[in-house]
Amino acid sequence: MLTLFISLSCKKEDELKESSDPLVAVESALKPYFIRFTNEAKTRGFAVDLSSHPLTGIISDIPTSQVIGQCSYSNENPYKVTIDKPFWDKASDLGKEFVVFHELGHCVLGRAHDESMDSRGFCLSIMRSGTGNCRDSYNSTTRKAFLDELFSE
Ligand SMILES: [Zn+2]
Repeated sequence: MLTLFISLSCKKEDELKESSDPLVAVESALKPYFIRFTNEAKTRGFAVDLSSHPLTGIISDIPTSQVIGQCSYSNENPYKVTIDKPFWDKASDLGKEFVVFHELGHCVLGRAHDESMDSRGFCLSIMRSGTGNCRDSYNSTTRKAFLDELFSE
């Protein structure tokens, strides 16, 4: 009986230790992009407090075609980011960043979709739905303007 009690209390201690890392439930391949998101926010004076947004992040097959990322909410996983595995496996670093930042825009910043476009039809926001009429132009040159826009609201 005593042994059982000790092993239970040890387990509880381990769980407490884990929960001090706000990204403990984020898959290791995704973590650098989550950290990059908080750093980009910080350089723009936008304090992202991940301890108040217990994030889950996984890479897995999203069965819906054309959908490469999701932010979902439930009691068990209040802010869950899912990135499509077939997309992830072939995406560039910027492509991965784009989809992770879009989903964190929903999950952490609480932003909705924004289909704004310039006079040439290029999307002005990372928060474009992907099913609207604007065309993506996220690259190393336009990146800064997109991130300024993302953290402006
Ligand atoms: Zn979206």
